[in-house]
Amino acid sequence: MAECWAACLGDCRGGISKEHYISQAVSGTGSIAVRGFPWCRDEVTVVPVASFARNMLCEGHNSALSPIDTAGGNAFAALRRFVDIAWAKTKRGVRLKGMQQYRVDGHALERWLLKTTINIAYGRELFAGARWKPPADWVETAYGRSRFADGAGLSMASTASSIVRPGTSTMGIQFLHRNRSELIGAELQLNNFSFVISVLPIEGAGLVHRPERLIDKPRLQLHQVLRFDW
Ligand SMILES: [Zn+2]
Repeated sequence: MAECWAACLGDCRGGISKEHYISQAVSGTGSIAVRGFPWCRDEVTVVPVASFARNMLCEGHNSALSPIDTAGGNAFAALRRFVDIAWAKTKRGVRLKGMQQYRVDGHALERWLLKTTINIAYGRELFAGARWKPPADWVETAYGRSRFADGAGLSMASTASSIVRPGTSTMGIQFLHRNRSELIGAELQLNNFSFVISVLPIEGAGLVHRPERLIDKPRLQLHQVLRFDW
């Protein structure tokens, strides 16, 4: 299926080019442990990030996504630092001189999660009988030409993240569907965080739609705050 998944935008340019499922800036390391992908399901497979790519976008639509890759990289760098510091404090007794603050562009992170879901699902037989292609509204939203419906977009499993050991990059995905026939989004676990991206409003226990912030406040004192700009 060597065809551009953004072809419905009508302005394809250049030949078909390799798009990485997950950019190096996001993974932070040379390899990543993945789980739940259509071709590995329940097993955990370690793959080199550089080769984790497929021909699925034309050159024009590939390069048009680079600001989103950069924004995704920045978001994950902030999230990684947040975890590293929380770990250093609790496990190694490191003390902070002052409160650490981070900002993340929420809309760009949403678009990165959406295009990553498309990258993984594209051309796969997710439901019997047909290879999945993103509907036009998914593509327009991924390229910032339209917005998510009210109540749709990013949710996080919980604003109080449990801190697990930093270092290894891991990525898991679970597709979300309606009636086993229509893909509506995915839950993506990236390192210590769980993100739900959906084109429909969804509800779930402990799910926070477009969270305002993550805080690291072990006792009375606030140590770290990561704000999402919306
Ligand atoms: Zn294209």
